[in-house]
Amino acid sequence: MTKPLAPGATIGILGGGQLGRMLALAAARLGLKCHTYDPAVDAPAAQVSDAHTAAPYDDIAALTAFAQGCAVVTYEFENIPTAALDAIEGACPIHPGRKALATSQDRLTEKEFLSGLGLHVAPYADITSADDIRTAMADMGTAGILKTRRFGYDGKGQVRLKTADEAEEAFAQLNGAPAILEGMVPLMSEISVIAARATDGAVAAFDPGENVHKDGILDTTTVPANVPNRLKSDAVLTAGRILNALDYVGVIGVEFFVTPSGLVVNEIAPRVHNSGHWTQNGCAIDQFEQHIRAIAGWPLGDGSRHSNVRMENLIGDDIDRVPDLAAKGAALHLYGKAEARPGRKMAHVNFITGPAG
Ligand code: AMP
Repeated sequence: MTKPLAPGATIGILGGGQLGRMLALAAARLGLKCHTYDPAVDAPAAQVSDAHTAAPYDDIAALTAFAQGCAVVTYEFENIPTAALDAIEGACPIHPGRKALATSQDRLTEKEFLSGLGLHVAPYADITSADDIRTAMADMGTAGILKTRRFGYDGKGQVRLKTADEAEEAFAQLNGAPAILEGMVPLMSEISVIAARATDGAVAAFDPGENVHKDGILDTTTVPANVPNRLKSDAVLTAGRILNALDYVGVIGVEFFVTPSGLVVNEIAPRVHNSGHWTQNGCAIDQFEQHIRAIAGWPLGDGSRHSNVRMENLIGDDIDRVPDLAAKGAALHLYGKAEARPGRKMAHVNFITGPAG
């Protein structure tokens, strides 16, 4: 894509969840149209899009027809089958590109990429047997977390091990899936940077947010993060290096562990990110608009923050708290999901806690 998309052009979004929904809303504000693609007919993003294809991700004919009607295709999740990407790429550009997807789809590739840039990551080893776990734990000399290389999210596909005696059982729990073992990092807190890169290589980053997880799922993000300024700069510069190395177009989420010896990169997500939802009420231009601008070939907005914000995720029955939160002044972001199931992200709220400071 060489020219910026004109208003009225259609952006395709693979995945119809809440991230797709908020991308579609941002695109609509910019006068762009959205066509979403998701197996579910009433997906959250479909409710607010101009067109929706309800078909599986292995329906090559449906994917091809979808892509033929789009000027550019983006996505809200990273585990997109390769054949689907091939079909789409035959018809129109995909942003962010294949390199970012391939890197983030596989934890081993991701770790190798990040350490290849000279960035700090947790100690890790490639695991294909219980024996590999025993050897890696002896080498690392710490407790560890076994993580499947692919398809893990929100703490799924992970088993924690205190000693090497648990190797057999841990490996069996992942059903023998290819995995990595990560040594436990002495983390004091977790932060993330949401950053964007435009087609001309310009980069804009939002302030790092501090994240707290509950039961493996993001619970709150707070800005400003309670970490020294030098670590905030490190985090932002690191995100910029990752964006450049991937020749990236769009918004990325980069998660870090804060440790006594500095930042350790945990993982990257080649998409808008739950820990960037605070930008909707803390910045003039939020992560969703920034992503749409980038993939449409438009100039990025500046990512400065005008307010301090605390974002709270509403998971499952938390959705019942909405009336109370509304009365307390929260900015509400509901996803249009009919049924509240345990662990299901239903909505989030942003509390503006003061002017930026
Ligand atoms: P992940 O899905 O890889 O982000 O892991 C989920 C959560 O587990 C992280 O947010 C951390 O709180 C914790 N965790 C993951 N890997 C490590 C590690 N190597 N050392 C310490 N804690 C970790």
